[in-house]
Amino acid sequence: MKKVFVKSYGCQMNVYDAERMADMLASEGYSETKAMEEADLVILNTCHIREKAAEKVYSELGRVRELKNEREAAGYETKVVVAGCVAQAEGKEILRRAPAVDVVVGPQNYHNLPSLLKKPRSERVVDTEFPVEDKFDHLPKPSKAAIRNRGVSAFLTIQEGCDKFCTFCVVPYTRGAEVSRPVAKILDEALRLADAGVRELTLIGQNVNAYHGEGPDGAVWSLGRLLHRLAEIPGIARLRYMTSHPRDMDDELIAAHRDLPAVMPYLHLPVQSGSDRILDAMNRRHTGDEYRRLIERIRKAQPNLALSSDFIVGFPGETDAEFEDTMRLVSDVGFASSFSFKYSPRPGTPAADIETQVSEAVKAERLARLQNLLEMQRQAFNHGTVGQTLDVLLEKPGRHPGQMAGKSPYLQPVQFESDRHAVGEIVTVRIIGAGSNSLFGEISEPGNQAAA
Ligand code: SAM
Ligand code: SF4
Repeated sequence: MKKVFVKSYGCQMNVYDAERMADMLASEGYSETKAMEEADLVILNTCHIREKAAEKVYSELGRVRELKNEREAAGYETKVVVAGCVAQAEGKEILRRAPAVDVVVGPQNYHNLPSLLKKPRSERVVDTEFPVEDKFDHLPKPSKAAIRNRGVSAFLTIQEGCDKFCTFCVVPYTRGAEVSRPVAKILDEALRLADAGVRELTLIGQNVNAYHGEGPDGAVWSLGRLLHRLAEIPGIARLRYMTSHPRDMDDELIAAHRDLPAVMPYLHLPVQSGSDRILDAMNRRHTGDEYRRLIERIRKAQPNLALSSDFIVGFPGETDAEFEDTMRLVSDVGFASSFSFKYSPRPGTPAADIETQVSEAVKAERLARLQNLLEMQRQAFNHGTVGQTLDVLLEKPGRHPGQMAGKSPYLQPVQFESDRHAVGEIVTVRIIGAGSNSLFGEISEPGNQAAA
């Protein structure tokens, strides 16, 4: 049997795509390996969101080239594929800069991998055209064993691409226009995952709450309606979704946070900046106060809501005062976790051409201040859960013998002693301590809510 090594960079969409590639290659006779040096096929599933991400891929390709040469000297062939958003954005440039690469394939084309891999060695190929057909129709379904191997929490792509065109972002160019998968196909995949023991589904999409898929009744379903249907699936106890845009948080979705116990009280809702002028220049189409009011409405529906966000500092022309607006918004809203980045100019996006770029030193100083505040909020949130009893979904054995590890409703890792609970159970745990990255707890009630 041939071996494939897949390395994924960037967002959860790439994690999902990497799993689908592995499923597809399994039916082509490849088994997955975690060791690149023994792989007959190396796939780098890349991310193009920030400059460093692409440079990391080129330096990794340097290492892959050495490995390919070593294996060749030993009489083994290694095929090298670059997939994902760097593949889409750079195309032929990758073949020019990285001689080890055989195939460059975009995120909407990886269902073509089996035929691309059959091309002769001398023929290096680029496949990045946006296809008319739906790649999902061509991807084989994962086996029960493959699903089980990946654990009780699974990603499920419901939407791809983006039509928002934020001025800093490459996604509309690399992933293409916004497309929602039909409800029937999502249900089919969800039922399959549940049948193999999955308890938690995270619905993913570049702009997931813009979901508007065709329902079985022929009507267009929103994300709120889809969540109601998925919550009915036996065995599925938890539903999450990411990444959302503030403009697409409609009433039905907010109500789902109130009405569906399966919808976890955790929401990743990126705001990017607290300054109205910067938000406008980013083409985010909402103000800081509109975001604050939106959060108030969601918290009214779900008072226990824990919030997460993405932030960009040093967007072109951002003044000190505008950065302070972001600090104020963070203080006003309060975040349980977050991701924050220095603005990175992406070729082809409107913001990259703005002349007033902020210096690296200023970006670094702003990022350090913002991250300091966000980290204090994260720690405060985690310490605030000490003394509470939380439902924990058991995902794996813990770090030490006799320990189990799982996640709280707020996505916090929780460790506790147990020798009588199994992966997939949801156990009520009293939180007794908070470390820097996980919580520690003790069982409060016997195991319950076992998988149906
Ligand atoms: N769709 C999501 C939204 O509307 O917020 C964001 C998806 S994007 C893949 C993930 C995050 O990367 C963004 O929220 C943003 O904070 C960050 N990002 C995107 N482009 C960036 C850039 N040019 N420089 C720095 N960070 C960037
Ligand atoms: Fe990029 Fe998100 Fe804006 Fe779409 S909504 S352009 S994915 S940041």
